[in-house]
Amino acid sequence: MADRIPLVDYLVLEPEPHLIAHECTSCGARFFDRRNACAGCFGMKFRDVAVATIGELRAFTIVSLAAPGIPVPFVAGVIDCDGTSVRGNVINVEPDADHVHVGMKVRLATQLVGVDGAGTEAIGFGFEPTK
Ligand SMILES: [Zn+2]
Repeated sequence: MADRIPLVDYLVLEPEPHLIAHECTSCGARFFDRRNACAGCFGMKFRDVAVATIGELRAFTIVSLAAPGIPVPFVAGVIDCDGTSVRGNVINVEPDADHVHVGMKVRLATQLVGVDGAGTEAIGFGFEPTK
């Protein structure tokens, strides 16, 4: 079986795919990038917390121009996952305004992004509509 490597370090694949945020222990603000101090309260202590895998689309843009090699159009969105704001693409849906709308329920989904010469698979994430 091929190795699978998350594309970003806040995506955890096992046992079930989910995102990990750094949560400020004093004010509860959550960040996905690593920080030395909280942007909200300047607290310096963080703990890792699992983010809900079900969310609601709060805003989106249909991207029709991108760097060479990136298939377009695709849907870039901001998803509210039980209070945590997550930037991610909306996937497994027709990328148009007939199929994507603010307020739609989505869930975390993983997708194969690439395979290196040794067969290691890079895994990214997006959000797909809940059925
Ligand atoms: Zn804080």
